[in-house]
Amino acid sequence: MRYDLSKPSLLGAGIALTLAALVGLELLPARTLELTRPGGVSNLFLTTPGEDHAEAPVQWLDAEHLHWRCHYTAIEKYQPCGLTLVLSGDDPTRGRDLTRFDTLEMDLVYKGPAPFVRVAIRNFDPRFSKVEDGNSARMHSVNLRPRDVEKPVRIDLSELTVPEWWIHQFNLAREYNRPSLENATALTIDLPADLSGQVHELQLRSLVLKGDWISRDRVYLGILCSWLLGASLVVLRGWQQLRRSNRLQQREIDALMVRTRQLRIEQEQLRRQATIDELTGVLNRRGLEGALDDLEAQAEPLGLVLLDIDHFKQINDHWGHASGDEVLRRVAAVVAANLRASDIVGRWGGEEFLVACRCRHIDEAAALAEKLRAAVAATHVDSKGRFSITASFGVTLVPPGAAMHRAFRRADAALYRAKESGRNRVERSAGQDAATTV
Ligand code: GH3
Ligand code: MG
Ligand code: MG
Repeated sequence: MRYDLSKPSLLGAGIALTLAALVGLELLPARTLELTRPGGVSNLFLTTPGEDHAEAPVQWLDAEHLHWRCHYTAIEKYQPCGLTLVLSGDDPTRGRDLTRFDTLEMDLVYKGPAPFVRVAIRNFDPRFSKVEDGNSARMHSVNLRPRDVEKPVRIDLSELTVPEWWIHQFNLAREYNRPSLENATALTIDLPADLSGQVHELQLRSLVLKGDWISRDRVYLGILCSWLLGASLVVLRGWQQLRRSNRLQQREIDALMVRTRQLRIEQEQLRRQATIDELTGVLNRRGLEGALDDLEAQAEPLGLVLLDIDHFKQINDHWGHASGDEVLRRVAAVVAANLRASDIVGRWGGEEFLVACRCRHIDEAAALAEKLRAAVAATHVDSKGRFSITASFGVTLVPPGAAMHRAFRRADAALYRAKESGRNRVERSAGQDAATTV
């Protein structure tokens, strides 16, 4: 099954999942730890300066409802008035990890003249805390004014700071003084003030630690990473598709180029087949006519040499048709070998060839014809037997603008005269329209 992440349906699903995660995060019940519930802490006790007796300045009014009173009638050196909740179990060095909690919700009733009620948490750090010195567990505290606790109060645990006196007293390395509640051993609610001659009443109705089950930061990070991953997959997939389609297109282009090359070759072959005489390899009549049309359009005189092999019928009759073909091939080759690049030669039909040359004067054309005549006459054909051949030539000049067909008739007439005069000869015909001829 293939997934296209760029599809709107998948995008919609991604948005829906994101919203579900965000809403779920809001609706998810908080992680709670009710410290005042029976069994919420391993122990709780009032802190008093001496033995717990009837006249002690700190006394329970209602222990079950965590209601106590402090009344220092005389000045005492040490005037504690508080409730300590022990978070550690049998091992006093192992407390609770409160780093997963964010807030402390407290419902405390306070009656008295103290300026502050202090909430403090001790964190036992084995690097410097000692069991025998309860004060050596790092203290984190916040002072609340009585009016702050008139209603249930919500304390952000980040409000708890390490007090200066504790830092000075223990004089530890700076990193030990940073607030951290990964091993909280006790929580205390007390009055950090001179209490002498005063009466204070406190009742802790509830004390609850709260936090998210899943860290919000992690959820946000997870959502962000999922989107980044999704976007990367979309980009990757798009890139792969682009590459694939590029490859396909390139293949199609290559195939088209190959096909184009083949077509050009075929076209060239067809053109050759249409204009080249298959037997001799020189132009055929159609090719000659095309070439003559091109030459006719130019503003220079043209020499026409019409050549006819002598007694060719006899050659055929005597030596056979194949030998006749060989004669045609040899004559074509001999003529072609004696021409300039600008001259053209073609087989006009049967055993007749036509040569067209750039000649300013008929003498030049006649000289070329004479050269060809001699070359043909010097040719021996070895086919079934060795024999020589000759040809007769009719020469004329085509002045610029003159009609080609009339010039051709003149050349033909000259050729006829050459035949009449005994063959193996060159005859010329200056013609009426040949102004530049002799
Ligand atoms: P002349 O000297 O008067 O030109 O006589 P000739 O025999 O050369 O001329 P003629 O017109 O009487 O005969 C031409 C012969 O050429 C007739 C024909 O069978 C032969 N011929 C035409 N085309 C071909 C060909 O392609 N191959 C062969 N072997 N013979 C051909
Ligand atoms: Mg002929
Ligand atoms: Mg002939």
